[in-house]
Order: sequence, then C-alpha cells, then structure tokens
Amino acid sequence: MLDISAISAGLSSMKVAMDIAKGLKDSTTAINDATVNFKIAELLEAMSEVKMHLVEAKDENIELKEKIKELEKALNQKDEVIFRDGYYYLSAPQSGKPEGPFCSHCYSSSNELTLLTEVTGMLRNMGKYKCPSCEQRFGK
Ligand SMILES: [Zn+2]
Repeated sequence: MLDISAISAGLSSMKVAMDIAKGLKDSTTAINDATVNFKIAELLEAMSEVKMHLVEAKDENIELKEKIKELEKALNQKDEVIFRDGYYYLSAPQSGKPEGPFCSHCYSSSNELTLLTEVTGMLRNMGKYKCPSCEQRFGK
C-alpha cells in the first residue's frame, strides 16, 4: 500500500539534522573535540536517514506514476468500447485490432479485452462463443 510516510519520516529526520547543526553553530561555550565529533556523528546519522527516506519516497513516486499510467490506460480503454447484445466491441475500428466480440466477464473483472473465439462442432450447443482466458461460454 502506498502512502506518504517516507516523505514525513524524511522531513522529521531532516529536522533532527538541522537541530543538531544549529546546536553546534549556536554553541557559545567552548566545546571539546570529542563533543564536536559526537555531534558530527549524530548529524551524519540523521542525514543518512534523510537519504534513506528520500529513496523510499522516490520509489513510492515511481510506483504512483505507474499506477496513474495504468489507470489512465484503463480509463481511455473504457471510452473505446461499447456494449452490444451482451458483448463488448470497439466503438471505432482500429487498424490491426479485431473489433470484437470481447469477453464481458474479463472486461468487467480486470479491464482486459479478451477476444472471444467462435465455437464450432458438437460443443457449439454449449455456447456460440468461448473466452480463451476465463473459459466462460456465451450465447446459444
Ligand atoms: Zn473471459
């Protein structure tokens, strides 16, 4: 499941890093090397967490973009088909693509346009068409 937790976590880590840096800068009393080294180590740790969360956020961003592309494709496809006599058909012919009929079960369950195959011979009385994907039979 996608969320924006990586961005929130990254911002929290960034605040920690900035507070440490600010503390070092504003330090009025003389601090020894050991304290400085300790603060720098803390700073580096906070910064590496920022980096890690940014990588997570980047991955989430990529996933979200892919999901959007997928949804846009499904949305566009919805406009391209029409439902007629129990089957889906392309609303306008497209070169190199069959116009249908497509399986209504596959289309409504997973947005897949699966071309139905016409049944011949003895099995035809079980249905005029058969879906090669979900095996459902249609028509008499
Ligand atoms: Zn099907």
